Amino acid sequence: MSTYPKVSETKELIKQLVSIPSPSGNTTKVIQFVEEFLKDLQVETKRNRKGGLIATLPGTNEEEHRMLTAHVDTLGAMVKEVKSNGRLRLDLIGGFKYNAIEGEYCEIHTSSGKVFTGTILMHQTSVHVYKEAGDAKRNQENMEVRIDAKVGNAEDIRKLGIEVGDFVSFDPRVQFADNGFIKSRHLDDKASVAILLQLIKRVKEEKLILPYTTHFLISNNEEIGYGGNSNVTPETIEYLAVDMGAMGDGQSTDEFTVSICVKDGSGPYHYGLRKHLVQLAEKNKIGYKLDIYPYYASDASAAIRSGHDIIHGLIGPGIDSSHAYERTHEESLHHTEQLVYEYVKSEIVSY
Ligand SMILES: [Zn+2]
Repeated sequence: MSTYPKVSETKELIKQLVSIPSPSGNTTKVIQFVEEFLKDLQVETKRNRKGGLIATLPGTNEEEHRMLTAHVDTLGAMVKEVKSNGRLRLDLIGGFKYNAIEGEYCEIHTSSGKVFTGTILMHQTSVHVYKEAGDAKRNQENMEVRIDAKVGNAEDIRKLGIEVGDFVSFDPRVQFADNGFIKSRHLDDKASVAILLQLIKRVKEEKLILPYTTHFLISNNEEIGYGGNSNVTPETIEYLAVDMGAMGDGQSTDEFTVSICVKDGSGPYHYGLRKHLVQLAEKNKIGYKLDIYPYYASDASAAIRSGHDIIHGLIGPGIDSSHAYERTHEESLHHTEQLVYEYVKSEIVSY
């Protein structure tokens, strides 16, 4: 779309990000990628102890800070059991159901650095053999990994170096349609990470001096609840999480606007900041939707919960079928990019 000159770059960045496996607990490679990206922009970064990354752009006002976050960790799994039938039992990382990964190609990452491919299948998959193939429960008991190797028992698997505790990542299957739709696993929340990286790039290219010192936290444990609840400087007043907008029955979020979350499972987001974001959207003709996400919490609510005295907000691109085969549209990326850009240039809300 010619009206969105930079969105093609954002899409390429999303493709690169989703192609680096990074289930919560095993995010070093993707953090390195982000580090390199920021290094090329001459932005200094530092890692926190739990493996997340912080980049800071000094602002005119160094006494009052704001923070934006997006998370690079994704759903994934771990080897729970090396089974005697030559398959692997999984334990899931993050909040999703087994039906969301049935038939998915995966990678098994051993602790020595070897990678094996496989497929996540119901044990009773073959309809030529199992009468109950369609009805059997999609659960830990019945789902297993078929490894692409000649293995018939547990010993064969262990000889490959595969062991309990190895991380398993899912094939993102990223695909861009000609009409702007973006299909991929892990758009939650790598779409937003790409948006924040593009924002930093734009600020650098335009040689903008932001009104306040602004921290960007690329968090790496959001899917398990605590990625962004630390490293909030005492000067930080506003904390904005950029994370996916949830779509479904009764939701107003769509794939063509930025979703501004008014409340989620953790409670309402800061009223003043929400109204400020709406004003920015209205003033700059940014397409937005207000929404409530029923079963959801963010790094911003995690930060509040862990005791930080901050003004918290949540916005993000609308993602269909979240935590499964996700999809969004470049229009949603565009509007989210516009809103974060206007936001970092705006005044902090009064409190
Ligand atoms: Zn997320």
